[in-house]
Amino acid sequence: MANSIIYGPVPSWRLGRSLGIDLLSPTGKTCSFDCIYCQLGRTIYPEVERREFVSLDSLARELKTIEAATADYATFSGMGEPSLASNLGAAIRLVKSTLKLPVAVLTNSSLMTRDDVRCELSLADVVVAKVDAPSEELFDRINRPVIRQTLAEILKALRRFREEYHGKLAIQMMFVEANRGYAADMAKVAERLSPDEVQINTPLRPCGVSPLSPEDIAALEREFGNLENVFTVYRAPKPEVMPFDLAETLRRRPRL
Ligand code: SF4
Repeated sequence: MANSIIYGPVPSWRLGRSLGIDLLSPTGKTCSFDCIYCQLGRTIYPEVERREFVSLDSLARELKTIEAATADYATFSGMGEPSLASNLGAAIRLVKSTLKLPVAVLTNSSLMTRDDVRCELSLADVVVAKVDAPSEELFDRINRPVIRQTLAEILKALRRFREEYHGKLAIQMMFVEANRGYAADMAKVAERLSPDEVQINTPLRPCGVSPLSPEDIAALEREFGNLENVFTVYRAPKPEVMPFDLAETLRRRPRL
């Protein structure tokens, strides 16, 4: 039977060959945001509460089939926000003990206000946390949150996570037309979070908005001069990889 939780490996511009683990939905996108640039389209299943979407037994069965897979990271991502899965912490432990790979989680940061989520995310070697806006107004316009938390509450929780977490914290900032004029404010937000790395992105895969040009991204990168380890999507190398299940991979990454 084909795998439905594990996909890839996919080429990731910051994680190399990334073996995807999707704890959310075998059917459609489940998220606490509805970002204007989402490559998965509109959020079909808006969710704000944590629950179990796939069992640890199912994950364990699939892990047995890919133990020999070659990857640089096992990455919790997929069709929505991974921290909505109430078994994320147990799943991280299971993946670490089975695959012997470092574990990364890509999160939209929306559930960081929860103690249990911060605690489970701290089990990962790398947490890539999304921040796309310096103001509540832009947060509402770009991320279209389904969740009640304000941007201020999320940023406060991210600062708390930074104090508690000993792994690598990367802040990923997606730049589109709506926030391109706010790079200086975004840089200040990033500085206050003291990340190990800042990833400046723009949506290069097909979605509802256009990407910024390499020149635009290079110009706004200059605003991040006070920060170390700032990377942009246009300057990052991408490894060649061949997914073991192309159909399941393309459901999560419509273009590799
Ligand atoms: S947080 Fe990620 S999955 Fe959710 S809507 Fe935004 S881009 Fe899509």
